[in-house]
Amino acid sequence: MKFNSTLENITTYEAGKPIELVVREFGIEPKDIIKLASNENPFGCSPKVKEAVSAIVSKMSLYPDDSMIKLKDALSQRFDVAKEKIVIGSGSDQVIEFAIHAKASSTSKVLMNSITFAMYEIYAKHVGATVIRTASQEHNLDEFYALYLEHKPEIIFLCTPNNPTGDAIDAKDLFDFLAKIDEDTLVIIDGAYMEYGMYRDSDKKVEPKELIEKFNNVLYLGTFSKAYGLGGMRVGYGIASEQIIHELYKLRAPFNITTLSLEAASVALSDEEFVKKCIISNFEEMKRYEEFAKEQKIDIIESYTNFVTLCLNETQNSSSIANKLLQKGMIVRDLSSYKMNAIRVTVGTVEQNSRFFELLKEII
Ligand SMILES: *Cc1c(COP(=O)(O)O)cnc(C)c1O
Repeated sequence: MKFNSTLENITTYEAGKPIELVVREFGIEPKDIIKLASNENPFGCSPKVKEAVSAIVSKMSLYPDDSMIKLKDALSQRFDVAKEKIVIGSGSDQVIEFAIHAKASSTSKVLMNSITFAMYEIYAKHVGATVIRTASQEHNLDEFYALYLEHKPEIIFLCTPNNPTGDAIDAKDLFDFLAKIDEDTLVIIDGAYMEYGMYRDSDKKVEPKELIEKFNNVLYLGTFSKAYGLGGMRVGYGIASEQIIHELYKLRAPFNITTLSLEAASVALSDEEFVKKCIISNFEEMKRYEEFAKEQKIDIIESYTNFVTLCLNETQNSSSIANKLLQKGMIVRDLSSYKMNAIRVTVGTVEQNSRFFELLKEII
């Protein structure tokens, strides 16, 4: 069968390996498997969320509230922006998909960092757009600007803090950059790890309200999958001018967020204490990773997120190391598909991290 030719050069997204797969492939008991591969919150979600979701399970037979009023109100309050400036997606992934379909076509160019979230490229290829990448590993806004002038892309992606490298852009530099970009270029600021980044360094804090008040051509993305511990519920959001949100809505299927997910996200937003505790633990544990890397003479990229990227030397091969860890029940992310000889490890609980250090020492 012939399919749309835009699909020909798309490689399927490689997600972090699920625990179930390791159970099947290696016969390891689920309790002996530790997954530090998908940047999930090792403490799960707020207990308040579990209670609230349990209380409404009987609503499963009804279609969700498609106006999403409760979650929109909560986000509107949190970010101090009008509800008309918010779109909710099945993960922020879906908002990325909406944005690319709304703005790009087969004649478009989409500019992004050399190494960044793989889905930007996949969605760009859906519409046959050409992907342009910078050269440096970390975001370099001068390179972005030079390529912007050269190619006049329809869309620019800035992922701050960036996945899978963990670096972040100073908010001031970001605003200076945006001021030089013409109004017809859509700039997407992916803040999937912003809760972590702004805790580590307030200079990295990008405030969506300020962003969209200054710029009509910017879309800010956030997610409940990382700091809020709700990866399995699939909820993300976009904040932008009413005009942008209005167009994105044309691409949305009705009821794209389930009743349980809407409830979970709304309640998660109200328990900031929980998120804060998780973030504090994250950066305490990150210090242990930094010390471990120093001890083992492994390069580590300074991280503003809930993961660390360990850059291996020439005598070590990231795929083989990730595989050996996997056989011992430790799932991490091999970054060879990003053309890096590195592994990305989500910062886990104290015990999970200790186990990782132990196993990696054994292997190298
Ligand atoms: C995890 C992640 C997302 C989106 O996750 P969803 O689960 O779809 O909300 C978006 N961008 C980056 C950079 C991420 O790491």
